[in-house]
Amino acid sequence: MSTRYETVIGLETHIELKTETKAFCSCAVEFGAEPNTHCCPVCTGMPGALPVLNAKAVEFAVKAGLLLHCRVSLRSKLDRKNYYYPDLPKAYQISQYDQPICTGGWLEIPSGGGTKRIRIERLHLEEDAGKLIHGEGGTLLDCNRCGVPLIEIVTMPDFRSAEEVTAYLQLLRERIRFAGLSDCRMNEGSLRCDVNLSIRPLGSHALGERAELKNLNSFQFAAKAIAYEERRQAAVLDAGGALFPETRGFDEGTGETFPMRRKESQSDYRFFPEPDLPPIVLTQEQVARWASELPELPDVLRERWRATYGVNRETAEALTVTRAAAEAFERAAALTRFPKLLATLLAADPARLAEGEIPVSAEHLAALSDLLGEKTIGSGTAKELLALLWKEDQDPREAVGRLGLGKITDRAVLEPLTREILADSPRAAADYRAGKKAALQSLLGQAMRRTQGRADPDVTRELFLASLQAEPRKEE
Ligand SMILES: [Zn+2]
Repeated sequence: MSTRYETVIGLETHIELKTETKAFCSCAVEFGAEPNTHCCPVCTGMPGALPVLNAKAVEFAVKAGLLLHCRVSLRSKLDRKNYYYPDLPKAYQISQYDQPICTGGWLEIPSGGGTKRIRIERLHLEEDAGKLIHGEGGTLLDCNRCGVPLIEIVTMPDFRSAEEVTAYLQLLRERIRFAGLSDCRMNEGSLRCDVNLSIRPLGSHALGERAELKNLNSFQFAAKAIAYEERRQAAVLDAGGALFPETRGFDEGTGETFPMRRKESQSDYRFFPEPDLPPIVLTQEQVARWASELPELPDVLRERWRATYGVNRETAEALTVTRAAAEAFERAAALTRFPKLLATLLAADPARLAEGEIPVSAEHLAALSDLLGEKTIGSGTAKELLALLWKEDQDPREAVGRLGLGKITDRAVLEPLTREILADSPRAAADYRAGKKAALQSLLGQAMRRTQGRADPDVTRELFLASLQAEPRKEE
């Protein structure tokens, strides 16, 4: 990017809401289902079919708005956005035009060592279109996605770099996902973003002509498209050319953007109030109840765990992968004397945490970290036990006894073991006495192998040292 220009970016993010049924009919919302198995006269736009608004979609849109500090409109309405496209059998999309359900929010992102507030202009409710499947014999239409509820979140042109865009999308995705409002999977299209980008001479406050970059389906592609577009626009201006508003696509193969069409103006869509649906009317009490149902934000949780338990950022991030994981940790951490050990133990397998519901009770998780903290078991055994509990929840104390997994601290057991190992490894013993302190590690390693990791390392080390330091004196 030329240092003579500044980049100005605004984002439009579409997020599919994780409701059980579609926005205006009772067809199921299910990604990856057999094509055209979840559709009906309403979502395929048959004449005479009447839409009924899904209350859950309204609730989820409002909750998303609350997570972004938006004002919730107690009265908003739905409008028809008219356009013809093969994946839109109705030839119009039900959306919200001049009275969106949420307005005026913000999200604070990390930026340049500090934080930066990205202003959100509006959040509105709309429906998704179908999906075109291009194949060798032609193009097929899958209507399963027609009418899936979406929210569109429009920011002010507050971003100045691809890094800020990525930081915003990551935070947005984390909050929406944590609250259970969407899966936010970019690869499945449940989170999609359009980037509006223009450049202007440094020091200028006027906005340049913007290009809308469509269908960026990963953070990496968004960053690449931004970098390419910055260069392209700078080259046009440097050559004395003029930019015009346009919609551009991104070629994942070449990393370049390409022209698709001149940008439509809002009047091309001929918006008018949706005649088949009444306005959305909410009460203050309803909004307050939804606000009370929202979870504590993941960043707030992480900060509290750091301050109270000393849990580091990486570990805390693994624990906030889902609300279920975070809540399971919260409940168990309150019951154990070793919450930090519990955090590390749970975070060691992030994929398992991300699966969804945590199948182990808080009491058993707490008991497991107590066993580890009390040094009844070692960390390897704790991991094995956790895997066992995940398969079948049970009391880890009983499991330790039943499976003989407890740590061996009994000197009467360990003493003969260390003598045996020393007798079998005269070389290591001689090395140690000759000053190679690392030889002790190999002796300890043998003790661990012979006891399947159950020998208490402190006691075992002490016993080895006693023998190693005692024996040479006998020889003198
Ligand atoms: Zn339907």
